[in-house]
This record gives sequence, C-alpha cells and structure tokens, in this order.
Amino acid sequence: MNSVQKTYRIASIPGDGIGVEIIKQTIRVLKRLEELLGTFNIEFHNYDWSSERYQNTGEYIPTGGLESLKNHDAILFGAVGSVDVADHISLWGLILPIRKMLGQYVNVRPIRILPGLSSPLKDCSIEDLDWVMIRENSEGEYAGQGGITHEGTEYAIANDVAVFTRQGIERTMRFAFEIALSRPRKHLTMVTKSNAQRHGMVLWDKVFHELAPHYPEVKTDKMLVDAMTVRMVLKPRSLDTIVATNLHGDILSDLAAALAGSIGVAPSSNLNPTRQFPSMFEPIHGSAPDIAGLGVANPVGTFWCAAEMLAWMGETKARSSLMKAIECVCAAGVRTKDIQGTSNTFEVTEAVIRALEKEL
Ligand code: ATP
Ligand code: MG
Repeated sequence: MNSVQKTYRIASIPGDGIGVEIIKQTIRVLKRLEELLGTFNIEFHNYDWSSERYQNTGEYIPTGGLESLKNHDAILFGAVGSVDVADHISLWGLILPIRKMLGQYVNVRPIRILPGLSSPLKDCSIEDLDWVMIRENSEGEYAGQGGITHEGTEYAIANDVAVFTRQGIERTMRFAFEIALSRPRKHLTMVTKSNAQRHGMVLWDKVFHELAPHYPEVKTDKMLVDAMTVRMVLKPRSLDTIVATNLHGDILSDLAAALAGSIGVAPSSNLNPTRQFPSMFEPIHGSAPDIAGLGVANPVGTFWCAAEMLAWMGETKARSSLMKAIECVCAAGVRTKDIQGTSNTFEVTEAVIRALEKEL
C-alpha cells in the first residue's frame, strides 16, 4: 500500500427511516472499494442529526454543527422525514440549512434506465431516456421569504415569496450549459412558467437568452413546466440536459426518476461548484416511513450517490468500478421489490460487494 495515499474525510448523515439502513450499507460498499483499490482511504464521521434528535433536543443541527461539516471533503446524506414531525420543519431544520450555508447552489440529477430495469413508458429503451437535470438549489420558493397574517381566523392570508436573483440564475445556468457541452448531444432545455409568473421566470428567460450565444455548440430550447411533463412522458428521446428552478426541478426529477424505473435508484448531488465548502450527495427519495425498518429499501440510489461523490473528489476509476458493479447486479436480477425484484437491502449490498471483488 502507498503510504502517501490520499485520505478523504466524509461526513455521513443517515437521518431518518430508510436513510439509516441505506447509509450503513453504502459505507460497507465504500470501505470494501477502498480495500480493493488500495489507492485512497476514507474516514467516515457519523452525525446523528435526525428527527429523533429534534424531538429530544428541539434542534436537528447542534450549535457549531454546520461549521464542523466544512472540515470534510464531502457529505453523504440519507433522508430526513418522520411521521412525528411536520415535513416543513424537518426540511428547514436539516437539509435546507446545509444546502444554503455550504453554498451548494446546484443540484445535479442524472437520470437513465439502468441495465435490467424497465421504464413504465411503453417501448422506452435505455437509449430513449438519458438525461441530466440541473436544479437551482438556493432560491425560488425555497428562499424562505413570506409569512402569514390573520392566522387562525377565516381571513388568514399566507405568502410564500419566490425570490430569484440574476446572480443565482446565472451561476446555475452557466453550470447547466457546461454540462450540456460535455455531453454527446449538447442539448439544453430550460424550464420555467414565464407565462404565469411574470417577474422571476421572465428573468430566467432573459438570462438564458443572454448566455446561449456564449455556448454556440449547445442547441437550446425552452419549455413551460406543464408542457414539459407531457414531453418527458411522450418524447423522452427529445431531451438531454435540463435546467429548472428549485421547485420545478424537484417535481420534475421525481417524475423523471419514476420514468427511469423507481425513485429508489435515483441519485442527486448538491454541489458547491466553487469547492469552497463540501458538496453533499443524497438519494432523491425520502425516508419512506412505510417501509422503514423492514430491510427492503432499495440502496441503489445511494450507491449511485457514492459513485458521484467519488467522481467529484477526482476518483474516476473508483466511480466507474462502482457504477459497473451496480449495473451488473441490476442486470443479473438482484433487485429490491420497487424494481420488480425479490431481494432485500442486505442481499443487494452483498451482490454489489461480490461484483466489485470480481471486477477488481
Ligand atoms: P420526501 O418529502 O422526503 O421527498 P416523500 O414524501 O416524497 O419524501 P418518499 O419517502 O420518497 O416520500 O417515499 C415515496 C414512496 O416511495 C414510498 O411509498 C416509499 O416506500 C417509496 N420509496 C422511497 N424510497 C425508496 C427506496 N429506496 N426503496 C424502495 N421504495 C422507496
Ligand atoms: Mg419527495
């Protein structure tokens, strides 16, 4: 073993429900990959930030917690959400502060049909659906602006103010153009609702049209979000890279993941492209309270996140080995119930580890 090899410090935040089960298995896979490759070390630091912690202490993140995350190369996140805590409290208590405070302003979601899986769309082959969705990750309806007046009366008025800044739009769109440029089809579709939302969404349109001439090789088009849902279902092959607002990107990526087979297999990367602070990798699904504790959650989405995390840290060989192992296991039919299999979380993990051992 090389004594000067790199050691990565990874903060792991399993969170709630199936998050705990899948992060545990993902760490096993990464530890085995580290042993097999022998080219880097991974040091995991576990953070018990969960809804249970919130119920016991009144906070998800302790004082100084966000600062301590900064001292890592990346963050691996499971899921947050509990039947005992309102969803807006858990989201604003844990995930959103991390995304905001660590400057993770883009969320990247690759979507494709893994070998052996099938789309619920009729006649949709692996070649027909291969997208990357870029979701703006810091603004819009998630800016946290708004309030309620006359609360508790029949005259209650609630406002959620969607905030869009030129700087926020531009940095996300530049990132999306770069991704589009790096892909074989070089095609970027921008999604808004600029017919109804006549300020922020119109600014999105404007910035998009200003940037497009700087990327002459990238073919562009623009969709309203409602029409976009139809296009994703009826003409998946016409899409390649997609850029959308925080809220639209959230909704469209759940649809996209379902079209690619299951939300259980879809990864997402909350990136800080400046690399000033660590990025965070989390599956797009939630804590799935309905199956938590049963040991049947699909771990593939989180394994794929781990592969994206390795790539972000520059470990491209590790990423491709892990992706190959995941694909090989899916193709061989070792799958959880959500993707038409009969295996449990542990069995899928074991199969991925065996595939890595065979390959390396
Ligand atoms: P969030 O608000 O955190 O996004 P959600 O309310 O959208 O959560 P999920 O927790 O993602 O909901 O669950 C939606 C459905 O998908 C549930 O029926 C759940 O069991 C199923 N599901 C989610 N993730 C997985 C997984 N990894 N494996 C199998 N089924 C899953
Ligand atoms: Mg959801």
